[in-house]
Amino acid sequence: MDKKQIYFDHAATTPLCKEALDEMLPYFTQIFGNPNSQHAYGRQAVDAVDKARDSIAKIINCKPNELYFTSGGTESDNWALRGIANAYKQKGKHIVISPIEHAAMLATANALKKDGFEIEFMKVDEYGVVDLEHLKSIVRDDTIFVGCMLANNEVGTIEPIKEIAKIAHEHGAVCFTDAVQAAGVLKTDVKELGVDMMSMSSHKIYGPKGVGALYIRNGLKTQSIITGGHQERMKRGGTTNVPGIVGFAKAFEIAERDREKNFEYVSSLRDRFIDRVLAEVPFVKLNGPRENRLPANADFSFKFIEGESILFSLDLAGISVSSGSACSSGSLEPSHVLLALGLPEELAHGSIRFSFGKHNTVEEVDYAVETIKEAVQRLREMSPLFKAEGEIKYV
Ligand SMILES: *Cc1c(COP(=O)(O)O)cnc(C)c1O
Repeated sequence: MDKKQIYFDHAATTPLCKEALDEMLPYFTQIFGNPNSQHAYGRQAVDAVDKARDSIAKIINCKPNELYFTSGGTESDNWALRGIANAYKQKGKHIVISPIEHAAMLATANALKKDGFEIEFMKVDEYGVVDLEHLKSIVRDDTIFVGCMLANNEVGTIEPIKEIAKIAHEHGAVCFTDAVQAAGVLKTDVKELGVDMMSMSSHKIYGPKGVGALYIRNGLKTQSIITGGHQERMKRGGTTNVPGIVGFAKAFEIAERDREKNFEYVSSLRDRFIDRVLAEVPFVKLNGPRENRLPANADFSFKFIEGESILFSLDLAGISVSSGSACSSGSLEPSHVLLALGLPEELAHGSIRFSFGKHNTVEEVDYAVETIKEAVQRLREMSPLFKAEGEIKYV
């Protein structure tokens, strides 16, 4: 890559930090043992995994034996929902989730619906914030699971999880939060949040891909989804990903250590970007709240243009962004998140997510704004819709 490359897609994944890489390297070669083995190599691997588990447990304020390593956020989300559904189906079959969950939750809920579970969605307002009064009115005594992400991956909305947990618990339901975007960015103390289960993923916080964790409060019944050997206290089979776990813990420690500093820096880039785009690009809508959103996130709908065409123009200029959620790009479906926020379909199609990281700079932000201005103007000049309706409809 000779051309200048700018990465504004940290909500999709992040580069591995040097500290995590250094910590991981010996576990690929010298200390390669299987923690299940009854010999010195095995014990060394056990020690490394125990240390990583202790460290993450401390960050999220749980006991080490309440933390289970998985292959990432998707598996953790699947396990949380399926595990509770299967373990508690005698109590009830009513499941409540937000409509703006990650595909890992939505697809699992959809599959459970076919197995006879009733899935009901919380309402969210135009910024994506859960309507607590509505939630109160739909949670019932046969509700077994109430799940909502701590922060949304597409529009950055931070959700009132504490209040959601209270409502769930008043009816004896399990409260789950997907903290994949929030971990290392916001405080993720499970006691303070009051949740019973929480998903995390390593590669969104400068750790390696393919590893994550699920917090399961002691005392909860749950069923395994990956059955096999005795790993993870017999709850999750599969040979332990020792280097991944070691790297995940290191990345999480660094993210937690620098959390406030990074929050401030990344929000300042994000605010500069949002302010400039709103002021300098006509017919643009910021999706999600202005305040109370993830520091990294800025999501815009550009009226009269397809998100994909802006994405390609930015890519040509060396700027990597995402249209809607990374999972829905490539498909021409409008974003389910933006539809849940009440956006009309044409705006739900035209959205672009910029997600900043700790290595980005003010110069990169300014270059992106200039590039967007040019690209948007050029694309609109080619848009018959803009010519026909633009000035008249939206001035
Ligand atoms: C990325 C993401 C996931 C999936 O995590 P993986 O580790 O990539 O499987 C789940 N939930 C949210 C909110 C995410 O942003």
